[in-house]
Order: sequence, then C-alpha cells, then structure tokens
Amino acid sequence: MRAEFWGVRGSIPVADRAMARHGGNTACVQVELEDHVSVVLDAGSGIRALGQRMAGGPAPIHILLTHLHLDHINGLLFFAPLFDPGAEVTVWGPPSLRGPLRRRLARYLSAPLSPVEIRDLPAKVRFRVAPSEPFRVGGARVQCRLVNHRGPTLGYRITEGDSVLCYLPDHEPALGQPLHSGPAEWISGLGLARDADLLIHDGQYTEDEYRLTRGWGHSALGDAVDFAARAGSRRLHLFHHDPSHDDAALDLMRIEATERWIEAGGDRASLALAAEGTSVGL
Ligand SMILES: [Zn+2]
Ligand SMILES: [Zn+2]
Repeated sequence: MRAEFWGVRGSIPVADRAMARHGGNTACVQVELEDHVSVVLDAGSGIRALGQRMAGGPAPIHILLTHLHLDHINGLLFFAPLFDPGAEVTVWGPPSLRGPLRRRLARYLSAPLSPVEIRDLPAKVRFRVAPSEPFRVGGARVQCRLVNHRGPTLGYRITEGDSVLCYLPDHEPALGQPLHSGPAEWISGLGLARDADLLIHDGQYTEDEYRLTRGWGHSALGDAVDFAARAGSRRLHLFHHDPSHDDAALDLMRIEATERWIEAGGDRASLALAAEGTSVGL
C-alpha cells in the first residue's frame, strides 16, 4: 500500500508562493493498493490533479468521504473520471438523518452552485453510506467510525496484509476527554488509529490558536501528537494545515510537534507535516 498526498490544506484552498512547499489544495489522499484498485480519501481540490493522472485508467475507483464539508468535496466536479462514460466510481460517505448520500451531495452538485447536475455525470457512479461493519475495497479491509468533528464525520482505517493506514483529517479527540488518562474506548477515533503504520491526523492549530478555536472540530498540535502516541501509531503525518499558515509557520510547528513526539517515545524521522506531492510506502 502506498499513500500519496494530493491536498493537505484545511478549510479553503490557497494559492500563495509562501505556502507552495506544503501545498495549497484541500484534502485528498490517494491510497494505491497492491491490486491497483485506487482508494481516494476525500475529494478536496487536490483530487483535480489526481483525476487528470487517473483519466482513462481501467481500474474501479473508490472515493471514501469523511464528511461533506466543502473543503472535502469541492474537487468532485473537477475529477476527470466522473466525466468518462467508461469509468466506474463508488463514492462512500457518512450516514446522516438528512437523507441519502447522493441527495446530500446533490446540494453542491446542482444549480445554482454547479453548472452540472449530479444525474448528468457521464461515469457509472454509485453512492453508498459506509457501513459500520468492516467492508472490502479491492484487497483491503476498510473500517470506519463516527468521530468528534462538526456534523457526521467518519474516520477510516484501511488494512491490506500487515499494513494499516488510518485517516482522521478533521478530528478533535481532546474535546471533553483527556487523552493521557481515562478508558481508551472513550477517546474518539482511538480504536481506528490503534497500532497504525501511518496515521494521517488533523494538526490544524498551534496551542495559542486553539485557545480561541476549541470546539471547532480540529486539533491543536500537541493533542494530535498525544493522540498518536496513545494509539501506538508508528508514523504520524499531521494534516489539514490552516490556510493562514505559510511554510515558515509550518516548519516551526513541525519542530514543536517533533519535540513532543520524541518526549512521548517516538523517533524524529517518523513525524512529518504532510506535503502535497509526497508519498509514503507502507
Ligand atoms: Zn476539513
Ligand atoms: Zn470538516
């Protein structure tokens, strides 16, 4: 399994030279499985460039949406395989009392927000609520759980052979629950992240910023590191970078996070701030 980062930014895409090294596109991670089935985690603006590379490919595509905030779906309309009549795409997403997944996505993929209606997409597209029991995508086993964020939001755990990847891009596990103490089963997302070879986790805010943003559904850097340490994750990639953080600010955040990670028993090389255009082999 290999994870490739196509969008690592949170909230809104940014086009700014001072942010180019980490990248300005919103959430999108491709997970390439051994059988070449493609799993795409979220459909933020990063999915546009991924779609250009995938266009015309024969393999089925599975898009796993964590939730329907705009920064996680704003690339859907620009994903080339959805306009290829030969493509087969399955879009998985969170359950909601607001109706079927297709109808909830159609609120974005319809007038007046979109020139194309969801029913007009040329590809063979299926929309499915991700089940609470484990399910298979290609040769991988996928588990999901509702996690702490604003609105129904899933975290995903993907297992292929002995390799485990966990994706928790928008997540505030420390809200109302100490991460160091208390029963592990009460901590949001911890079961999904347990012993993961790679944990991709929300690390949007500095400690100072978090004093003003507590309850907005995102993590302070220190909480993200503590969560990963408690879960026993082997590698941590911090994700969902704030649109106000340029590369220099993110470099400082990486230094601070690394100190805390080493204190918790991690090694320097196993922590990174996710950057667009990079990939990790598992
Ligand atoms: Zn987000
Ligand atoms: Zn969100």
